[in-house]
Amino acid sequence: MSRFFNSGLQSLEPYTPGEQPKTVGRLIKLNTNENPYGPSPKAVSALRNADADHLMLYPDPDGTDLTKAIAEECGVRPEQIMLGNGSDEILAFLFMGFGDEIWFPKTSYGFYPVFSDVFRCDAHTVPLEDDLSIDLGKYMDAKGTIVIPDPNAPTGRALSPDAIEELVRAKSDCLVVVDEAYVDFGAETCAPLIDKYDNVMIIRTLSKSRGLAGLRVGWCMGCEDIIADMKRLKFSFNPYNVDRIALAVAEAAVKDKEYFEEIRQKIIGTRERFTEQLTEMGFSVLPSKTNFVFAQTGRMPGAELFRKLRERNIIVRYFDKDPIKNYIRITIGKDEDMDAFIENTKEIFEEAGK
Ligand SMILES: *Cc1c(COP(=O)(O)O)cnc(C)c1O
Repeated sequence: MSRFFNSGLQSLEPYTPGEQPKTVGRLIKLNTNENPYGPSPKAVSALRNADADHLMLYPDPDGTDLTKAIAEECGVRPEQIMLGNGSDEILAFLFMGFGDEIWFPKTSYGFYPVFSDVFRCDAHTVPLEDDLSIDLGKYMDAKGTIVIPDPNAPTGRALSPDAIEELVRAKSDCLVVVDEAYVDFGAETCAPLIDKYDNVMIIRTLSKSRGLAGLRVGWCMGCEDIIADMKRLKFSFNPYNVDRIALAVAEAAVKDKEYFEEIRQKIIGTRERFTEQLTEMGFSVLPSKTNFVFAQTGRMPGAELFRKLRERNIIVRYFDKDPIKNYIRITIGKDEDMDAFIENTKEIFEEAGK
C-alpha cells in the first residue's frame, strides 16, 4: 500500500473474482456462472457491423434504444429503467446512494460486503437457515435498504414472488431490492411489483442468461422516483457508463427471444440431468433455479475435491467460509462439460479409495 491511500480505506478487502485463466484451452471452466453457449448470433452480427465511424462520439447517456428494448421485454416503461456497466455497477450506485443502513444475507453474493465497505454503509448481515434458505421473516426489523438476491448465490435457492411481495408490503418504510441475476433459469421475476409499490427495485444482467458477461451490461427497474435518484448518482459519477458498442450488441441480444429461450431451456435441462447424476453419486444438491448447483458429499471434503478437480483442469468455485465450507459450486456448462465433471469426480473418488 502506498502512503497516499485514504486512511479510511486501508482495511478494504476487494472482491475476489473466480479464476479467469488467460488461456481457456483444455480447461473446463465451471467457476463463474458464465453461459457456455455465448450470445445470440444476432448480437454477434451487431458487433461485427458495429458503427466504428462514430466511435469518436460519446454514447447516448440514457441508452434510449436499449432501454426501450428492455422495457418491452420486461413489460415496464422506459422511465422505470436505468442501465449499468454490468449489474455490479448498478449495485455500486445502490450501496453508494441507498446504503446508510443496508441489510442482506450473510451467505450471498460476495460483492455486497465489499460495496458496503467501500461506501462505508452500516451493513447488517442475516444468517441463512440450516437448509441454506432465506427466511424473509428475519428482515422484519430492518431499516433502510434490504437486498435479496433471488435466486440466491451461491446456494441457487429461490423464493416465491408472493413471499417477496409480502416483504415489500410489510416493510413499506424500506427499499427492497431484488437482485435477479439468475431469474431466467426457472425462477419467477418480481418485475410486476414495480408498478404496485414505490419501495422496490429489481436488478438484472445480460451476463448469465444472455451469455454476455464480457460486454458488461445490466440494469435496474423501479418506480420513477427511485430511477431518478439512481440517475442522479450515475450522472454524478459516469454519465457514459455503457459504451456505444455495448448498447448496440445488447439491444440485438435482448430482441432475440428465440435464441434466449433455446439456450436457457438447454441449461435448465442439463442442470436437471446433472443434479440427478450427482445425487446418484452420493452428493446432496440444493434445489437450484440458476445456472449452477451447490453440492456437498460426505465422500470427500469440498476443499479437497475442488483441488483435485483443478489438477485435472476442471475449475469450480469453493468458498472457505462457514456454513458452506464443505460445498462446491458448479456452473452448468454444456452436456459434455458436465459429463467430464462426472467422469473425473468418479476417478477422484476411486483414486482416493472413497
Ligand atoms: C453475476 C452476479 C451479478 C453481477 O453481474 P454483472 O452484471 O456481470 O456485473 C450480480 N449479482 C449476482 C447475485 C450475481 O451472481
